[in-house]
Amino acid sequence: MKKILLIFGTRPEAVKMCPLALELKRREDAQTLVCVTNQHREILPPVLDAFHVTPDASLDLPTHAPDDLAGLTASLLDGLRGVLDAFRPDLALVQGDTATTFAGALACFYARVPVGHVEAGLRTWDMTRPWPEEFYRRAVTLMARWHFAPTDQARDNLMREGVDRSRVFVTGNTVIDALRTTVQDDYVNPILTWASSSRLVLVTAHRRENLGPPMERVLLAVRRAVEERPDVKAVYPMHPNPAVRRTAEAVLAGCARIRLTEPMALADFHNVLARCFCLVTDSGGVQEEAASLGKPVLVARSATERPEGVAAGTLRVVGTDEDRVYRALTELLDDPAAYASMAHAVDDYGDGGASRRIADILLQEL
Ligand code: UDP
Repeated sequence: MKKILLIFGTRPEAVKMCPLALELKRREDAQTLVCVTNQHREILPPVLDAFHVTPDASLDLPTHAPDDLAGLTASLLDGLRGVLDAFRPDLALVQGDTATTFAGALACFYARVPVGHVEAGLRTWDMTRPWPEEFYRRAVTLMARWHFAPTDQARDNLMREGVDRSRVFVTGNTVIDALRTTVQDDYVNPILTWASSSRLVLVTAHRRENLGPPMERVLLAVRRAVEERPDVKAVYPMHPNPAVRRTAEAVLAGCARIRLTEPMALADFHNVLARCFCLVTDSGGVQEEAASLGKPVLVARSATERPEGVAAGTLRVVGTDEDRVYRALTELLDDPAAYASMAHAVDDYGDGGASRRIADILLQEL
């Protein structure tokens, strides 16, 4: 029987790969194996638990400083070489644009294992933003045999780079498959109870190029807007990166209507997202999730690789200038017409059937 190996290692990859792993494991025409690299040592396991996915291989990576990308890449390549030698898959799947995605595709390229790229074709066309993700996804495009583009625009980006059209499949994004399993009408958790009579601003921030002053400016804008409005609260589930936590604690601590929390479990996060007033984020996948739930998103970056939500009006790219973020946020909070113009669900990112489509295509190709 043919073997398919899924390789992933960070929280966002796990959110988008677990629905596909479960879909493939339901099919009897191939054997599906899961290798996790543990690039996100702390925040990966809760996502695996949420989907009841048990890895068949799990790398024991040495600890690297957050900015030691060369060391991380070397360790990933070394570990993945062993997994590929042991499993000898007929094809492998990587997702998105992380160091694991890049090293996974490269290890497969060296081992002559054909690779499928899930969420292919996202681009800002600026190699420095997001850094290093824009490089990782472009490099993986060069190495992949199958390109699963989430949207028509992502497909067009791949065409522009000369990718063979017959190898590109528009499938929707598997993140929407995940969202369909987690959001529930009767969900309760302590943050939702705390914010039940307020408008809740949900904040996430962790992009490397925003570490330090840019993130500080964004959080200062949020703090100002919240402090001026007694009916508004904010919650920021902090990323484990120590540099992110230092800034968040320095800027936001001591404000009674702002909660800094540990990273939320996936179902908690999705249900808070589904009930919040709006979102301020520099995250990637959260833009798709929020837009598909009809939540206005202020994107604290200078460019987004998710332009569909911008065209639909639900995402607004506001950068990291404090006054600009403040003005955009207070406009949403104070002007119902401005809010209504952004608060509508975007269906461009998927319909919940992406995993099924990818599985169908792969099994046919095998
Ligand atoms: N997420 C989560 N708990 C949190 C914050 C985010 O489970 O406290 C999920 C979120 O729903 C999304 C993914 O993590 O699916 C996004 O991860 P992140 O923002 O770290 O990565 P990016 O998408 O920016 O690469």
